[in-house]
Amino acid sequence: MACDHEGRPSVTALIHQVHLSAGATFGPVSMSRPPGTPLVPAINLSCANEFADIGALGLAHGDKYVSVRYGRDSSDLVIQAERHLSALHESSSVCLFQSGMAAIDAALTAGLRNADVIAVIGSTYRKSSDLIKLKAEERRIQSVYLDSIDSFLDFRSAFHGRVLVFVESPSNPFLEIRDIRKLRSLAPDCLLIADITLQGLANDRLGLHGFADIVVSSCTKYAGGHNDILAGYAVTASECLFRDLWEFRSMRGCILDALSAYLLIRSLRTYDVRIEKQVFNAKAVLKFLRQNGKVDRIYYPGSCANKGQGRLFRASQYHGGSVLTFGVHPSIDIRKNIGSLLSAKMAPGFGSVDTLIEIPAFMSHWGKTPEELAAAGLDDALVRLSVGLEPLELILADLDLLLHG
Ligand SMILES: *Cc1c(COP(=O)(O)O)cnc(C)c1O
Repeated sequence: MACDHEGRPSVTALIHQVHLSAGATFGPVSMSRPPGTPLVPAINLSCANEFADIGALGLAHGDKYVSVRYGRDSSDLVIQAERHLSALHESSSVCLFQSGMAAIDAALTAGLRNADVIAVIGSTYRKSSDLIKLKAEERRIQSVYLDSIDSFLDFRSAFHGRVLVFVESPSNPFLEIRDIRKLRSLAPDCLLIADITLQGLANDRLGLHGFADIVVSSCTKYAGGHNDILAGYAVTASECLFRDLWEFRSMRGCILDALSAYLLIRSLRTYDVRIEKQVFNAKAVLKFLRQNGKVDRIYYPGSCANKGQGRLFRASQYHGGSVLTFGVHPSIDIRKNIGSLLSAKMAPGFGSVDTLIEIPAFMSHWGKTPEELAAAGLDDALVRLSVGLEPLELILADLDLLLHG
């Protein structure tokens, strides 16, 4: 299969490096493998673990971040999934949550311990901005919304308090890269949280956990990839922030359940082949759209309308992912056509094996006023497509139907 994102680290290889050295692959984390060892870990639903004596219990208390005592703190499968994800971030500490939003909640709570204002740069996932507003109200601090890193600089020079910065890259649905390395150099003393969900896994050339204090990603999208789990993680190089995230999770009870952790580990095993084919299909769709006279704007990382970001994109990521956004000519009745597709599904979410299509004005931004939609650059002719693993002919046949008119 053609692969034009060579150099992308293999998720499987990274995980195996760590786990082979621990004597385990994807199976149970153990040093020895007796004959007949299962290939996959057992799904153990126990939420309480027993201890033979006070001494053993004391050891577990002393080592609570890696031991298993009570299900709200941790479980074998969560620890294993966290080790896998940590391997993708140069062994930085990972905390796994029951959704991407729970991870963002934890990251904001940890970051707000030392902040007088929250600065949001660019657009964010709708629930993230709702949560930021709520948290700012609860803390009686201001949240400010800045459209670019340059406007952040102006803000920073006028404000001398402690700033929590929240940024998403690539952006949704316009797939613009935010220069998080530059942001860090301009804001060395701010606490920086970066949501990199739209990158997918192992697509971070820069090692953003080295620039942002906390990196978050929803595993509900690319990582899970099958539309059957909600999950999210936060990764940090700071031991202190890791403890805050972990304690928040333990207090709130927003840890990932064992079954979802199992499914996430299962999904990581096929990540490389999934993403390779999805990106391959997405590139073919991009070519198709470019040659179609009914499409008047296309957004993809580092190309088409985002061509000006080519260098930044190539320095930041290995590939542009499987999501693309495009505007359809007003002569096309997109509201009617979207109901006649054969294999693509109109559903929220992206990055999965299923081709999903949505009009953001009717899905993620439903209920906004025309003014709010216009301010976000959205209209009802703008389509977001997440390209899946279906045969390319099926995907292109649906695009023909969508653009028919
Ligand atoms: C989906 C998404 C989230 C929320 O993740 P959930 O797992 O649905 O809670 C946060 N940020 C971005 C960029 C997302 O796409």
